[in-house]
Amino acid sequence: MNDKEQTLSIIKPDAVERNLQDEIKQEFIGKGFEIIKEKKIHISKEEAEKFYKVHESKPFYNDLCAYLSSGPIVVMNLQRKNAVIENRKLMGATNPKDAEDGTLRKKYGISIDKNSVHGSDSVENAKIELDFFFND
Ligand code: UDP
Ligand code: MG
Repeated sequence: MNDKEQTLSIIKPDAVERNLQDEIKQEFIGKGFEIIKEKKIHISKEEAEKFYKVHESKPFYNDLCAYLSSGPIVVMNLQRKNAVIENRKLMGATNPKDAEDGTLRKKYGISIDKNSVHGSDSVENAKIELDFFFND
């Protein structure tokens, strides 16, 4: 039985800008994730708005979408057992200040908005988000 799961990870503009993508990819590989698809892209504000539509009513929505479209990002399809939850654990808390030692956001995050990585928060959303970026 194949019990592997897939999730979407994004290395956000603040991390790509600091050329951290290879180091962050090694962190995923070290935790048993396979990077089965990846691409470096620069999305438009409109695409970011579509991607983050779930946050439409939040006060930070506009800045968040402006930020995600402000520079290149690396989007990846990560696979392993319990990929969604294991990726969320490896990422750490949304605010790097609250993130535990050893997590990606603690190591690389600058602030709550520039927190270096995105990860799907459920298996259902992982499918939707993977389809958003890898629909070919
Ligand atoms: N965010 C922000 N201000 C906030 C809360 C969130 O700028 O007060 C940003 C942050 O970059 C976060 C993203 O919005 O990663 C999506 O928020 P969510 O609550 O889904 O956090 P995540 O799932 O990324 O941990
Ligand atoms: Mg989220």
